[in-house]
Amino acid sequence: MASQTETVESQTNQKPEARDASVVVDTVDVLQNGNATSVVRRKLTGFVGFSNLPIQWHRKSIKKGFNFNVMVVGESGLGKSTLVSTLFNMPLYPPRSEKRPSAEVPKTVAIQSISADLEEGGVNLRLTVVDTPGFGDFVNNDDAWRPIVENIEQRFDAFLEAENKVNRANIVDNRIHAIIYFIAPTGHSLKPLDIEVMKKLHNKANLIPVIAKSDILADEEIVAFKARIRADLDYHKINLFETPRYEVDSDETMEEKTSIISKIPFAIVGATSEVTTPDGRLVRGRKYPWGVVEVDNEDHCDFLKLRAMLVKNYMEELKEYTNEFLYENYRAAKLTAMGVSQDQSVFKEINPAAKQEEERALHQAKLLKMEAEMRMVFQQKVAEKEQRLKQSEDELFARHREMKESLDKQRRELEAKKAQIESGKAYMSTEEKSRKKGFSLRS
Ligand code: GDP
Repeated sequence: MASQTETVESQTNQKPEARDASVVVDTVDVLQNGNATSVVRRKLTGFVGFSNLPIQWHRKSIKKGFNFNVMVVGESGLGKSTLVSTLFNMPLYPPRSEKRPSAEVPKTVAIQSISADLEEGGVNLRLTVVDTPGFGDFVNNDDAWRPIVENIEQRFDAFLEAENKVNRANIVDNRIHAIIYFIAPTGHSLKPLDIEVMKKLHNKANLIPVIAKSDILADEEIVAFKARIRADLDYHKINLFETPRYEVDSDETMEEKTSIISKIPFAIVGATSEVTTPDGRLVRGRKYPWGVVEVDNEDHCDFLKLRAMLVKNYMEELKEYTNEFLYENYRAAKLTAMGVSQDQSVFKEINPAAKQEEERALHQAKLLKMEAEMRMVFQQKVAEKEQRLKQSEDELFARHREMKESLDKQRRELEAKKAQIESGKAYMSTEEKSRKKGFSLRS
């Protein structure tokens, strides 16, 4: 507890102005997926302020608080509740009521979740422990994994649903960040049930196997038992959580990570009460007639290694791996099953030259399309005009024919009249002649 408080103070009390700025001046070509990207590095001439980012992040996280959800899976009596209380240094489980011999035994694995708000050195942690009472306790344990897997998936589903809501500001992360799987200290090898359950769980949550109550095994037995368990896990391709390695890790950190991984499965001892050692120290441990098994002593068990992985050093990495790989895989598989597929093109690297060429081709295609459209409209208009001209030509022809016919008719009538008149004139002149003759006769 003390060391955490010290770290906080040393970070916040540091005078930022006193820190050196980076002193690199050149332009560097960095290869990113085969494409050269120019990164300009500049010497800062004075204090800018972004070196405070870790402190800002730290302050924000402290204000927000942390949450951590751990599931414990293992047969009853293997020391699950004792280990949780030992890890977090407080009794988390309520006192268990004595079962009457006649009490009805549940037929399936139950899922129980207990939460507690913890505070250490000004840092708040909402811890949730999900227990699986009844696991491995039945005559037939064939489906023992099912309620556990269902519970993990329900938590993923709830998160997925919350992520899809309009307001995503206050999503509560109830996903399981780690599973401590308790292996019975038989000293033989893994049971078929252990293998079956771990195979179902390893892709859903960070799996951390532990050998329960390892104080009942001798040191050599533990070494041999661990080797057999690791061989079984390898053979069945069961993935376990491993502390990630980073380039920036110091030699010391690398060594620590290697030493943690080498101890998996952790041989643990749980004890909530303190006992006095033969040399007079007060320690958390279990007292036997032949001596004391100390929980916090690396020579006695791997409890400190488990605590380093789960709480002290890698809690954030466990959460990160849950979010970025385990949940992401589940989410992708779920959406794919629902027929929603990810458009991979949104992730492709953008090459400026290729992008420009793509835009030019698009522009060209757009121009061609516009030209084709304009040509089509023009041809349409010409055809319409031609059609109208032809129509008026036909009308003109018809009118011309009509007028010609009417003129012909008029001409014919006039000619008929003329002929009539002329024949009338001839008749009249004969009459006149004969009348003239008669007149002379009479006279
Ligand atoms: P759970 O049913 O798995 O939660 O188991 P409990 O935590 O209730 O422990 C069952 C019994 O085992 C209790 O009497 C504990 O004191 C004891 N126990 C727990 N951890 C250890 C351990 O590491 N070594 C030994 N020898 N006994 C333990």
